[in-house]
Amino acid sequence: MSQSQGKWAYTKGLHDLGNGCYAYLQPNGSWGWSNAGLVTDSGESLLVDTLFDLKLTREMLDAMRRAEPKAAARIGTLVNTHSNGDHCFGNELVAGAEIIASKACAEEMIRDGGAKRLADLKRNAAAIGEAGAFFAEIFAPFDFEGIDLAMPTLTFERRMERRVGNKTVRLIEVGPAHTRGDVLVHVPEDRVIYTGDILFINGHPIIWAGPVQNWINACQLIIDSDVDTVVPGHGPITDKKGVAGLKGYLEYIAREARRRYDAGMQIFEAAQDISLADYSSCGDAERIVVNVASLYREFSGGKVASNVIELFGMMARIRQNQRR
Ligand SMILES: [Zn+2]
Repeated sequence: MSQSQGKWAYTKGLHDLGNGCYAYLQPNGSWGWSNAGLVTDSGESLLVDTLFDLKLTREMLDAMRRAEPKAAARIGTLVNTHSNGDHCFGNELVAGAEIIASKACAEEMIRDGGAKRLADLKRNAAAIGEAGAFFAEIFAPFDFEGIDLAMPTLTFERRMERRVGNKTVRLIEVGPAHTRGDVLVHVPEDRVIYTGDILFINGHPIIWAGPVQNWINACQLIIDSDVDTVVPGHGPITDKKGVAGLKGYLEYIAREARRRYDAGMQIFEAAQDISLADYSSCGDAERIVVNVASLYREFSGGKVASNVIELFGMMARIRQNQRR
């Protein structure tokens, strides 16, 4: 959420963080424009996430191989931070790698139906009204056809450690939060952490799963850890100030949504009623409606639920209202 970009430029492509760590950035970080990472040491490498389609992932892997011809020639380990397609749809291009995810993430990948579901939705967008139009608009730049999602080959719960050359990489499960099985990738020796979509910078985060307190706790865990460089799932590279900004946003909307839930306000009405003035520089503000819906589901113990098509429809309406 914060503007804090420190010393790192926000430009498309591979950024050398030093000592064999890299971030791959895709401005402007809006829907589907995710970041990824690479950790290398002594000729070995660990990739953090692939991208939303095969073309984008191929470009990224080429850039990584140019920067690290030896270590990235054959990537030994791929970690998927979570199940959303913009972090795993390119998996099949990392042939032979061990693909690691949390158990909950792997289960959600199966449940979500891979790229085929998004390809079908995109093809049939015209038949699903305002939700379809919004969906077609935000996912127009991506090609979901012909993707055969390579699934995790190794899953874990809570924590796992891997070696990359002589470096230790810690995988920390902090979900369910953004999705059901979110994982942080921490490289203690380099004081770097790759957060996946536990962190959105310059854009509204989106709570698909919750509970929100898990996400707030994940932010606190990053703030309490020995890191200097924080690579978010979307947006520019940041530091702990960026994490604190997102934590503050989650606390704010959870509080505001609760007041409106207690007052009996409907989801759409509440989403429009919550002031986002303090976050006016952040993109994708329509996500507030998904966040309110997820918070209402949480407050009601699962009784107030919306499906994804309804949510996309409400986001389309919020966007239209913002354009007026
Ligand atoms: Zn993402």
